[in-house]
Amino acid sequence: MCLVRCEGVERGSVGQGLLTLPSSQLVRIAESVGTPVYVYNAGDIRAQWNRLADALAGVPHRVHYSVKANSNLSVLRLLRELGAGVDIVSGGELSRVLHAGFSGSEIVFSGVGKTRSELRRAVDAEIALINVESDVEFRTLADVISSSRGSANVGVRVNPNITTETHPYTQTGHSGLKFGVPLDQVADLAMEIARTDGVTLCGLGMHLGSQIEDASRYEAGIERLIGLASALRERGVDSIRSLDIGGGFAISYGSRPELDLSGLTRGVRRIHAETGLTTLLEPGRFLTGNAGVLLTRVQYRKASGGRSFVIIDAGMNDFVRPSYYQAFHDIAVVTRGRVSDEGSSETVDVVGPICESSDFQALDRTLPAVGEGALLAICGAGAYGFSMSSTYNSRPRAAEVLVDSGRFALIREREAEQDLWRGEPSALVWRDAGETPGQRKESIA
Ligand SMILES: *Cc1c(COP(=O)(O)O)cnc(C)c1O
Repeated sequence: MCLVRCEGVERGSVGQGLLTLPSSQLVRIAESVGTPVYVYNAGDIRAQWNRLADALAGVPHRVHYSVKANSNLSVLRLLRELGAGVDIVSGGELSRVLHAGFSGSEIVFSGVGKTRSELRRAVDAEIALINVESDVEFRTLADVISSSRGSANVGVRVNPNITTETHPYTQTGHSGLKFGVPLDQVADLAMEIARTDGVTLCGLGMHLGSQIEDASRYEAGIERLIGLASALRERGVDSIRSLDIGGGFAISYGSRPELDLSGLTRGVRRIHAETGLTTLLEPGRFLTGNAGVLLTRVQYRKASGGRSFVIIDAGMNDFVRPSYYQAFHDIAVVTRGRVSDEGSSETVDVVGPICESSDFQALDRTLPAVGEGALLAICGAGAYGFSMSSTYNSRPRAAEVLVDSGRFALIREREAEQDLWRGEPSALVWRDAGETPGQRKESIA
């Protein structure tokens, strides 16, 4: 059995969270469903879940999967069966998780810009925790509650002012960013929440960013959360039940190391030992990232200006991480297509069909020589892959497939072209938009 081998590194060892599908299955899926197609392996998602569960065994905790990493209903249902709750960041995600079968008590809601209507829907769904990120957001929530005579469990998402060494776009835990309530404002807001009718201050939380490799960052943040919780307890706030340490656990991409889970566990143990509180965790990428690949076919080969191009049928609209975050993703050659020299390797740019020079999946990458028709697997595409895809260049979004023990199922159809213009009428219905610039000139004169 030939496991997918990603460039430079042999992939396939269970327990590393790396895709463990035989390449013959990938060939069959590509032939049956077409490309580009996202392929997720249920066994790899379960394996990651079990690794986290083992690392945290014996410490009170709950895992709320961060839906934005991969929000396909079948992936959500799989995680629900394993015992996960969910962490959502929009009303759309709320509808999605309710549709997937999660109950309100399994949902926590984060995000800096929750609208009034999103807050109302969260209150109506009686979700486990609404993590507020500012005093004004809390007052909007309090207003929603008093007008509906509902109630809500509230957490404060703290900005613990912890710097992280990850891509600037995925840092969220230090001051000067839009996320969380600044450390020096937390106590006042917490006291205000504690005094307000209809809400219970149930937790404090943080989310430091994404793809964080250094476990000491979590330990530092946890220390701040513990300090805040103790200070509030001294001031008579005794309703706090949980500390939420967010997500962001790094997985291995290429040669980058994953987060040391034992360091994370140390922090979580401290929470229990020093406060007796339950820890909430919100991993997204950790659970699904390396359980998926994006399968794509080589369309053409081309050379220009001393560079050698492999033109594939997946674009930055399908998988944006390389162009948006300069992310490195291993590329596994599943089949080599029409090549003259079976033994050779070459250094190439792997690019897509989109009309942007930033439309690449890999630059200066040494791969076994591939020709037209070759099948490639872009590794580590199970998180922030399909969920960040778009229809730019009027390209229908890719299909998604789930593999489980030698079987596969289509879990999202390839988008149809007619879906691309859904909602765009051919006969326009004009409505009065008020005065026109011409009219205003007349009225001034
Ligand atoms: C995105 C996000 C996560 C998950 O981040 P990962 O890097 O995928 O683990 C968790 N919590 C919040 C609040 C988020 O916004």
